[in-house]
Amino acid sequence: MSMVEDQIEARGIESSSVLAAMAAVPRHRFVQDDWQGSAYRDHPLPIGYGQTISQPYIVALMTEALDVAPGDRVLEIGTGSGYQAAVLAEMGLEVYTIEIIPELAARAEATLRALGYAVKAGTSDGYFGWLEEAPFDGIIVTAAPDHLPQPLLGQLAPGGVMVIPVGPIGAVQTLWRFSVADDGAVLAESLGAVAFVPFTRAEE
Ligand code: SAH
Repeated sequence: MSMVEDQIEARGIESSSVLAAMAAVPRHRFVQDDWQGSAYRDHPLPIGYGQTISQPYIVALMTEALDVAPGDRVLEIGTGSGYQAAVLAEMGLEVYTIEIIPELAARAEATLRALGYAVKAGTSDGYFGWLEEAPFDGIIVTAAPDHLPQPLLGQLAPGGVMVIPVGPIGAVQTLWRFSVADDGAVLAESLGAVAFVPFTRAEE
C-alpha cells in the first residue's frame, strides 16, 4: 500500500503529522464491502445515501491546510464514513463532527468506536455549527454549500482556520481557506478547484 507516498507526498503534502495519520488510519474500515479492493485508490468512493468518502489526496490537502496542533479543537461538518474524523483524531486533535443523514452518522460512530477513536459526533444540519462546544481552532467542511455559512465563521477562535469548498450545485467548486487573525480580520485564500457532494439543508 503506497497511498501516502504515491498520491499524497508526491503531490507536495509535507506535514509529517498528516502523512503519519493517513498511514495509520485503516481506510478500508470506512468503505463498504463492495469497495474494499479500491479503498486505497486515488479517487472518492460511494458510501451510500448518494454520499462519498473523499479522495485521499483531498483529505490530506484539507487537513494540512487546517494547520492545527495536537490538543486543538476541530469541528468537521459532514461526517460521512467517519474517515476524515479518524485522521483528525489520529493527529491528537479533539474532534467534533456533525452529519445530517442519521444512518451515516450511526454507522460512522460505530466504526470510530470500534477503532478506538474518541470523537464527539452529532446528527444535525451543520450549517449552524456546534454552538455549545465553540469556539474551534479549526473547522473543516466536507460538503459544498453555495455560500459561506456565517454561523461557522462565528465559531472560529482567534487564529482559527476554516477549510471549505464553496460553489453552485452541480458545478466545480473552489476550496477556500479562511483564517481569522487575532484582531478578527478574515483572510481568504483559494486552494484550487474541487468537486464535493452538495451541502444539504434540513427541511423546516
Ligand atoms: N468527511 C467524509 C466525507 C463526507 S461526504 C468522510 O470522510 O467520509 C459529505 C457528507 O456531508 C455527507 O455524508 C453528507 O450527508 C454530509 N452533509 C451534507 N450537508 C450537510 C449538513 N448541512 N450538515 C451536516 N452534514 C452534511
